[in-house]
Amino acid sequence: MSEIFDAEQRWLMRTYKRAPVEFVRGEGARLWDAEGREYLDFLAGISVCSVGHCHSAVVEAVRHQTARLSHVSNLYYSAPMVELAERLARGSLGGRVFFANSGTEANECAIKIARKHAHRRGVESPQIVSFQGDFHGRTYGSLAATPSLAANDALGPMLPGFCSVPFDDPEALRSAVDADTAAVLLETIQGEAGIHPLSEETLVAAREACDDAGALLIFDEIQTGCGRTGSLWSYEQTPVRPDVITSAKALGGGFPIGACITNEAAGEVLEPGDHGSTFAGGPVAARAALATLDVIDDPGLLREVRRVGGILRDALLEIQGIEDVRGRGLMLGVGLADGFDATEVAAGLLQRGLVVNAPEPRTLRLLPPLIIGEAEVGEAAEMIAAELGGGAS
Ligand code: PLP
Repeated sequence: MSEIFDAEQRWLMRTYKRAPVEFVRGEGARLWDAEGREYLDFLAGISVCSVGHCHSAVVEAVRHQTARLSHVSNLYYSAPMVELAERLARGSLGGRVFFANSGTEANECAIKIARKHAHRRGVESPQIVSFQGDFHGRTYGSLAATPSLAANDALGPMLPGFCSVPFDDPEALRSAVDADTAAVLLETIQGEAGIHPLSEETLVAAREACDDAGALLIFDEIQTGCGRTGSLWSYEQTPVRPDVITSAKALGGGFPIGACITNEAAGEVLEPGDHGSTFAGGPVAARAALATLDVIDDPGLLREVRRVGGILRDALLEIQGIEDVRGRGLMLGVGLADGFDATEVAAGLLQRGLVVNAPEPRTLRLLPPLIIGEAEVGEAAEMIAAELGGGAS
């Protein structure tokens, strides 16, 4: 461990604070470190490995496609990409798809669509409105829509044309959306901020305000999508249908791929030359995503996500030291009682063999693979109870 630790310190840019463990193998909801210790993974690579680690269907799809044709330029046709686009569009908003390689890039595409759509209705300086606490990514467009990170002057100047309103405040949102608004870009459940769901009232206000202004409503489903909340897309469990959704993370079953998916009208906005990406939608990533969707886009599995998520929530609420559990399906934020330090609790849980993270000082985030069962839920709850059993520090 100390060798890789020293090499990491020397050769990698200092952008991450890593936990002191080197994972070398994964299977289902389990991970193993370099010393052979086993862990229960309740973070799944931050909602990436939703079908579990090394799912045989994804491994086989990638193996097969890599050996046949691993890359072809977007200047030519490629069947896996087209098949995946049809599946994603039919399974959501019915319009068109642009592929990307990550979440932030999927949002860049959505931002371009919103700005061009606004210019078409004669808006000179289009504005994109998001909520404080939102996280949309780290490239400059998505960064500008991520208020906490956009405040980092050292990375400035930021892209103009973005503003934010207080979280889950429908009135503030209504007054921020006007004739210059290109889009409202939001997470239905804020993930990086610590699992904070938006109320239905705010989602409805966002839809109405966008309709009144002629703006697009964009849901960033990068963390909430692909079955995480118990439906393929989180918006399905709300009264609101967005114009555009973005996806990444779990979409590729561990393989990098992102997608911007539109309704019919928004799908007509971008034209040749407006956008592109060398690797995006390549055959291997597309096959990985198709195999992943075969597993996730299944009413039986989605029902289990809701059921097992409910069991996990109930088990957590029984534990002393836990004040509240937020979220939906298998996207849960665990609010710890006063005096607990979530970072320390997460570190203690890692020692015990449970992988979770601490997005806020008093919140643990649980994003287990969607294939977990009651036994794993019981195991995780026991470890959390034991860790909190020591009481608040
Ligand atoms: N949007 C949301 C809601 C996210 O949770 C993330 C990543 O955590 C992103 C966008 C950025 O995705 P990526 O890291 O793949 O660029």
